[in-house]
Amino acid sequence: MPSPGADEVVIKVSAAGLCRTDLTILASNSEAWPDPPFTLGHEIAGVVSEVGSEASLLHPGEAVIVSAINFCGSCEMCVRGRDHTCRNMSHIGYGVGLDGGLAEYVVVKARHVVPLGDLDPRTMAPLGDAAATAYHAVSEAAPALWPGTTAAVIGVGGLGSFAARFLQELHGVRVIAVDTSRERLEEAALAGAAHTVVSDEGLAARLRELGGGRVDAVLDFVGSSQTLAAGMAAISSAGRVVVAGIGGGEIVLGWERMPRNSMFVNSRGYTRADLAEVIALVRGGRIDVPQTHYAFDDVERAFEDLRSARVRGRAVVLPNG
Ligand code: NAD
Ligand code: ZN
Repeated sequence: MPSPGADEVVIKVSAAGLCRTDLTILASNSEAWPDPPFTLGHEIAGVVSEVGSEASLLHPGEAVIVSAINFCGSCEMCVRGRDHTCRNMSHIGYGVGLDGGLAEYVVVKARHVVPLGDLDPRTMAPLGDAAATAYHAVSEAAPALWPGTTAAVIGVGGLGSFAARFLQELHGVRVIAVDTSRERLEEAALAGAAHTVVSDEGLAARLRELGGGRVDAVLDFVGSSQTLAAGMAAISSAGRVVVAGIGGGEIVLGWERMPRNSMFVNSRGYTRADLAEVIALVRGGRIDVPQTHYAFDDVERAFEDLRSARVRGRAVVLPNG
């Protein structure tokens, strides 16, 4: 049973969401990811169980969600509200270098906690990465989008399915959903996607055809060389390709290769404000949070379902039953 430092709180974990990044960390020897041992689980919702002496704004019994981004709160980027780009990020966050939420209890800094109010922490974990990161990625594409424009979302899994919702609900954008999984495409169609496309070699041409000759933005939650190339080949002038997928792909960019005034954006993480805004959208009934629950003892099966794209919504583990 951990105890909190002065500026920390202990959270009894109600739910911890699983992310494809967890699978990448488990499989990787790259220096891009922290060395074990640490506890995985970077989508954490729960109930405050103990507060440190300087964390008095939080109260035992309060339902909260944890920021997956380990921002300092006081560097020049943090004070400008760009805490996803914090200058002092020694570890990426809980579950990625620091002990995370696949545990009955987790200790976090009070500044990384956002109150959930009357929302049930058992069903809110996916907001802590899937929804907030997708929301941020959509904000990076937003200058190229307005009602009636077209965006393709490549990889409509945990993150991408939220991106499609935000594009449709908040921006009035026609979404072309792209995936290799027919189940994921069916879910996307039910959630309002205008078109669904099975990802293959002819992807860019197919996107332009379905967009009536224009694709204003591509949000890539896969990030393979194939999807990066398709995204750049599909967008129109002034279009944006926003890449959040950690697929290890590479692409050659250049003045003569890119459409006029287009942008290629690397989108990592989200701000505390993004997290607060997705919570407000859920509270207002603007988006749902689809998920499949797993018992703590079934973590391996949950990862296996995620690996083989068999999960409906986000895979969420309940460490305290
Ligand atoms: P997920 O497995 O839930 O979703 C990925 C989807 O992509 C699946 O539905 C899968 O069927 C589909 N897919 C796989 N290959 C494809 C292809 N070639 N073309 C089209 N679709 C394909 O994963 P997730 O948890 O939503 O994560 C998505 C990506 O985002 C991962 O790479 C993850 O590591 C990354 N991620 C990035 C950030 C960030 O800050 N940038 C944060 C969290 C996750
Ligand atoms: Zn900072």
